[in-house]
Amino acid sequence: MRGTVVRVLVVAAHPDDKVLGCGGTVARWAEEGREIRVWLLGEGVTSRYETRQAGAEGGARYLAQVREQADRAASILGAAGCRVVGLPDNRIDSVDLLEVVKEVERAKREFDPDVVLTHHPGDLNVDHRICHQAVATAFRPLPGERWSSILSFEVSSSTEWQLPGGGVPFVPNAYVELAERHMEKKLAAMAAYAGEIREWPHARSLEALRALARSRGSQVGCGLAEAFAVARNIVRL
Ligand SMILES: [Zn+2]
Repeated sequence: MRGTVVRVLVVAAHPDDKVLGCGGTVARWAEEGREIRVWLLGEGVTSRYETRQAGAEGGARYLAQVREQADRAASILGAAGCRVVGLPDNRIDSVDLLEVVKEVERAKREFDPDVVLTHHPGDLNVDHRICHQAVATAFRPLPGERWSSILSFEVSSSTEWQLPGGGVPFVPNAYVELAERHMEKKLAAMAAYAGEIREWPHARSLEALRALARSRGSQVGCGLAEAFAVARNIVRL
């Protein structure tokens, strides 16, 4: 790792994904002095409207609210900054992939991270898959690159909802142990997205998020953990 402060870039498709996928890890790493930036590609609003036009109007109306929620959630987790790019939610596939890649490249240029956390390529949600693809393209292992790790996180109600054969399965091989305070920050940040929380036993209920963290933790001898799949790791000791 370069320098004294490790920089971590989170690239997520939708505002709540960063909390679901790596909220506890962000809370822990921020507490330990790592610098975290969050880059949200979609605005997380317009797919709820029936037409794209209504979506655009609704998106314009609510984008400020989404940004405020995203800032609040990032602040709870201790992230240094959060940018909502505002690509059309659940229609990122309607955007030229090159445009999505350019947004990720902008994040890379401005922040120059050591570690990148992003979606898994096998998710059910198409925005998540495109997000992963854009990161894989923007962070190609070219000579002179400074980043060392790309880790894919799991997003409840998308990663595990893919059907067999629909995408590569999420097989975790990296874990970050969480203390109870990190878990509480994750749940508090999720509460910033009240509209995204469901009642138990939905996969997005607060109980389910805690149960997942306990399950992932127990796989590696920890009380609580978030799990990741290593997409690429260049060991720079
Ligand atoms: Zn999402």
